[in-house]
Amino acid sequence: MEQTKQPRDIRSLTMDELTELVASCKQPAFRAKQLAEWLFDKNVCSFDEMTNIPKALREQLAEQFSFNAPEEIARQVSSDGSRKYLLRFSDGISVETVAMPSRSKLAVCISTQAGCAMGCVFCATGIAGLTRSLTAQEMVDQVLHVANDFNERVTSVVFMGQGEPFNNFDATVEALRKLNSEHGPNIGARHLTVSTCGIIPRIRPFADLPEQFTLAISLHSAIQQTRNQLMPGVKKYTLPRLYEALRLYTEKTGRRPTYEFAMIEGINDTDPEMRALCDFCEGTLCHVNLIQLNNIPDSPFKPSPQKKVEELQRRLMTRGVETT
Ligand code: SF4
Repeated sequence: MEQTKQPRDIRSLTMDELTELVASCKQPAFRAKQLAEWLFDKNVCSFDEMTNIPKALREQLAEQFSFNAPEEIARQVSSDGSRKYLLRFSDGISVETVAMPSRSKLAVCISTQAGCAMGCVFCATGIAGLTRSLTAQEMVDQVLHVANDFNERVTSVVFMGQGEPFNNFDATVEALRKLNSEHGPNIGARHLTVSTCGIIPRIRPFADLPEQFTLAISLHSAIQQTRNQLMPGVKKYTLPRLYEALRLYTEKTGRRPTYEFAMIEGINDTDPEMRALCDFCEGTLCHVNLIQLNNIPDSPFKPSPQKKVEELQRRLMTRGVETT
């Protein structure tokens, strides 16, 4: 049976392609700029919303192009109001997006890849492997989906869902800029956080970006052997190299990176692990975010008890390390 080919998403066109398109439709050149404003600044999802584009041109475009906004195929709503979505893109792959509302704020956690190649042993996505990287538009679409669903402005975004953003660096930076654009969602750079498991060669280019985007590092252990076991994908980026890269990062930017530390019972909540983390952080510009590991069915890794989390928080704070 012959398959119908899906029209191309008009939002994937570059400015040059839009200019060529407008010329081929025998329209004045300024229409390309108008189209770009609707597509990339105002983030519309239909041709009908483009009110300053002549109707005939809109109809012509609608015959050739589409808006491939993702389709929501499942959602879970928690008692605290957060919503977890499974969003499917036009080629059939799906990713998770999480919305976390609180008072007048709406935070979103987005995925940067479908699956992930890093293979962290405590993570269901890592176990399944990588399917493909997402485009910048697919990252932005997750945020737009949440904004539409809540009918509210998204106030912060963390790139911390499925995937390693620094393995999809260019698309991640493009998405950060689209989300930061004052003509688009206009989310402040400091409220846009990229979380990496420590791909060292990308930390410097990230620090060199002119915008003040926030960096988070999935640390999960300050003991090399434990970290190798938990995060085999970053084995070659050793802790001393990571420490040095972050020293240069803070020196260059003056910004405080966050260390994510998912506490796993009997693995990284022992006395030597706590001591090593305190030593790694003491006297540096950083913030530690302690999280109880998510419970994955059939996984040998279990979340640490709450009292261990509190003990580690106390120990870090005694050593002058900011912790939540
Ligand atoms: Fe999972 Fe993140 Fe590790 Fe990838 S980098 S395997 S998504 S924890």
